[in-house]
Amino acid sequence: MAPASAEKQSRQASEKRDEGRAGMNLSDMWRRVRARLHAELGEATFNSWFKQVEFVGIDDGRVMLSVPSRFIRNWIVSHYADRLHKLWAEENEVLTRVDIAVQADLAAAKSAAREVAEPEAPSIPAVAPASEVAAKTAQAREAAVLSGAVPQGFEDAGVGAPLDPRFTFDAFVVGKSNELAHAAARRVAEATDVTFNPLFLYGGVGLGKTHLMHAIAWEIRKRQPERKVLYLSAEKFMYQFVRALRFKDTMAFKQQFRSVDVLMIDDVQFISGKDSTQEEFFHTFNALIDHNRQVIISADRSPSDLEGIEERIRSRLGWGLAADIHPTDYELRLGILQAKAEEMMSRNGPVVIPPGVLEFLAHRIVSNVRELEGALKRVVAYASLVGRPITPDMTQEVLRDLLRSNDRRVTIEEIQRRVAEYYNVRLADMLSARRARAVARPRQVAMYLSKQLTTRSLPEIGRKFGGRDHTTVIHAVRKIDELCQSDSGIEEDVDLLRRMLEGGHSAG
Ligand code: ADP
Ligand code: MG
Repeated sequence: MAPASAEKQSRQASEKRDEGRAGMNLSDMWRRVRARLHAELGEATFNSWFKQVEFVGIDDGRVMLSVPSRFIRNWIVSHYADRLHKLWAEENEVLTRVDIAVQADLAAAKSAAREVAEPEAPSIPAVAPASEVAAKTAQAREAAVLSGAVPQGFEDAGVGAPLDPRFTFDAFVVGKSNELAHAAARRVAEATDVTFNPLFLYGGVGLGKTHLMHAIAWEIRKRQPERKVLYLSAEKFMYQFVRALRFKDTMAFKQQFRSVDVLMIDDVQFISGKDSTQEEFFHTFNALIDHNRQVIISADRSPSDLEGIEERIRSRLGWGLAADIHPTDYELRLGILQAKAEEMMSRNGPVVIPPGVLEFLAHRIVSNVRELEGALKRVVAYASLVGRPITPDMTQEVLRDLLRSNDRRVTIEEIQRRVAEYYNVRLADMLSARRARAVARPRQVAMYLSKQLTTRSLPEIGRKFGGRDHTTVIHAVRKIDELCQSDSGIEEDVDLLRRMLEGGHSAG
């Protein structure tokens, strides 16, 4: 039987089972929940957050949904969790939980499970009951990690994630924007005693946080192999903890984490929301710090800007050294490109990159280092596959889409300028403390659009609007969301502005 049809059959079987058990038609229920969300939130908001949500299954009172990205998941969890619970509970009172997974994670777990499964063992059906998915996912992930090239010192904990061999200090290019973070990371890696605790590294996506953490881990392994280092993402931490709760295995969980010398938790912004995971994270964190073990944390924002994390935890996270990584400048981008080009050549043989090409890339690809690196790889791969020399023209051609999206990135400043123009208010008034309705509403619209069209965090947006608090931004986003549903005038304004900002704007 082809895997696809096997999957389909088991999906149908499992749907039948679920329906039979709960006496309900799942797809009708899901359709109704969606329709109500749509009616309540309005077209625009619904499309932004719920359009791509998929229904995975129901098991034992748990509704399992999936979404394409972590961002969407976190947003839904922080803004609409209560509403979702209510809507499902109204469908059927036995439905007391709603879990949301990221589609890529489910898929990865599935294929990992398939790889490690015994030949005869059935694969996980697409719509296995959520609990089964969770249990198998856990096995699969662990097995995948354990059977992979897990560096020594990690496997005994069984909970860490493998290190990327390319992420070393040698391969890290230092510039103004990252020199503090780099120096702090070096210090922690080289010191024999605990210096800053915790070391908190923060900065935007793709700027080298994970690279630095892996570099610390490699360096400690080299210098002090007896120290036990554990690196993992905050998501994985949560996941392990939830699983431990489920299997009533929290003692072992605590033991695992508290026995390490160096604990690194990446992307800690994902530990948010009022749940026991946060509490457990905090206990683990405190226990390690109290025993003078090194803790290293990364996040996409500073400790004080971490939303959904309790105040006492936030403040404690900032007790050691918080080092931020700023967006790259031209010099650093060029330096990174030169280093990457050299490294590529040392592996794949000489590639002729004529003058001007690296400079062009450094000038035009400003988003983050990951994209910068990707662009260079793409140009080199294209040249070698098609057998054409690399030239500035060819580079533009190959990277057309990427260049366009780097150009099109809308900035908060631009949103402010456009919105002020549109409503005919002064930009300075919009950024001032004035509360007059005539400027307050445009300001809210601008905040709303900043949230929708940029990747800036709420605190960052607040700061750009005359140093306002992130709660003011949340309020503005909600307010405009509401108004868009009740006031077609506002809805049109927002729509028009959005289109102007997304479309008619060029680099500069
Ligand atoms: P983050 O964790 O901050 O999102 P990563 O550490 O994953 O970012 O970095 C993204 C990519 O960019 C990685 O391939 C990393 O090696 C590379 N990178 C980032 N900063 C630098 C740097 N200063 N020097 C060399 N490579 C870098
Ligand atoms: Mg990272």
